[in-house]
Amino acid sequence: MTIYNFSAGPAVLPHEVLQQAREELLDWHGSGMSVMEMSHRGKEFISIAADAEKDLRELLSIPANYKVLFLQGGAHLQFSMIPLNLLRGKTSADYVNTGEWSKKAIGEAKKFCNVNVVANNSDKNCTYVPAFNTWKCDANAAYLHYTPNETIGGVEFNWVPQTAAVPLVADMSSNILSRQIDVSKFGLIYAGAQKNVGPAGLTLVIVRDDLIGEAAAGTPTMLDYKTHADNESMYNTPPTFAIYMAGLVFQWLKKNGGIAAMEKNNIAKAKLLYDAIDASNGFYNCPVNQADRSRMNVPFTLKDAALDGDFLKQADARGLLQLKGHRSVGGMRASIYNAMPLAGVQALVNFMGEFAKQHG
Ligand SMILES: *Cc1c(COP(=O)(O)O)cnc(C)c1O
Repeated sequence: MTIYNFSAGPAVLPHEVLQQAREELLDWHGSGMSVMEMSHRGKEFISIAADAEKDLRELLSIPANYKVLFLQGGAHLQFSMIPLNLLRGKTSADYVNTGEWSKKAIGEAKKFCNVNVVANNSDKNCTYVPAFNTWKCDANAAYLHYTPNETIGGVEFNWVPQTAAVPLVADMSSNILSRQIDVSKFGLIYAGAQKNVGPAGLTLVIVRDDLIGEAAAGTPTMLDYKTHADNESMYNTPPTFAIYMAGLVFQWLKKNGGIAAMEKNNIAKAKLLYDAIDASNGFYNCPVNQADRSRMNVPFTLKDAALDGDFLKQADARGLLQLKGHRSVGGMRASIYNAMPLAGVQALVNFMGEFAKQHG
C-alpha cells in the first residue's frame, strides 16, 4: 500500500531524497564515513554546506547583499532573535496578527519592545487576511513582522505587504520554497526546516546585510546574527545531518523544475482538494475565506464531528496518515507540502468522496 503522510510537521520528504540519503548513509561519496560522523570543519562537510547554500540562493534568486544562515532553535528562537537584532535602538515594532503563529511571535516580542498590532483577524476566528488598506502601520517601527502562511489556521497571503523603509520580516516556516518570492522585498525571512525543507533541527534565516551587527547590548553571542554571518554558520557545531538533507531537497527541487514548477504543482494540488470540499454539499467545510486559503495546509471539518473518529480510522487503513486537525481548530488538516505528490491528494479526494457517500 502506498502511504501518504499529511502531517503538518515534521512532514513528508521527497521519496527520492530519502533513498539517496539511504544509499549514502554509511559512506558519503567514498569518504568512508556517514555525514553524521564528519567534522563540520572538514573539506567534505564544508562542501556539503556550501552546495546547500549555493542551491538555495539559486532556487530563490537570493541577492548578493543577503546572508543565508543555517541556525538551530527553530522558528521559536527567531521570535526572540528578531527583536534582539532588529530593534536597533528603537522601542517598537509592528506585528500582524493572523493566527496562532503570529500570536506566539507577538507574545515573545513583547518581552523586548512595544508591539503595535497593525491588523488582526481574530474578529472572524482567524479565517482571513486583513486587507492592507486597513493596517495601522507605524512609519517609525523597527520592522514589520507577519506570517505569510498560518500553518494551523490555513490562512495564506497571496500578496506581499509594501512597507517602504520599514524592514519586512516574514515567518515562512510552512510555505518557503512552495511559491516564487522576491527576496529583495524582505529584510529578513526565516523558516524552521521541518515543514517544507528537510528534517527538524535546522532553521533557515535569510537576512539583508545592513540589518546585521546592531544587536541589543547584552545579546548572547549565539543569538546575534553577526556571530553566525561572520562564521559561515559554523561558530558552533551546526546541525550537520539536517543541512545535508536540506541540501538534497534543494537538489531535488532543482531537478524538478525549481520553484516555478513547484508552485504550479502546488496550485493544482490545492485546487483539487478545495474543489472537493466545496463540491461536497456541506458534508465537508473549510472555514477559511476563499481568497486567503493556504496552498500548504488545508483545514476542514466534517458536517457531523461525531464522524471524525471513523473518518480518521478509515483514512489510516488506506494509508492516508496524520490528517487529524490541530487541537485548537478541530476536524481535519491535510498538509500538502512540496513533497506531497498530486497522486496523494487525489487518493485523499477519492476517499473523501466515498466517505461522504457512505454517510450522506
Ligand atoms: C511550525 C511553525 C513554527 C514553529 O516552528 P519550530 O521550528 O517548532 O519553532 C513557527 N511558525 C510557523 C508558521 C510554523 O509553521
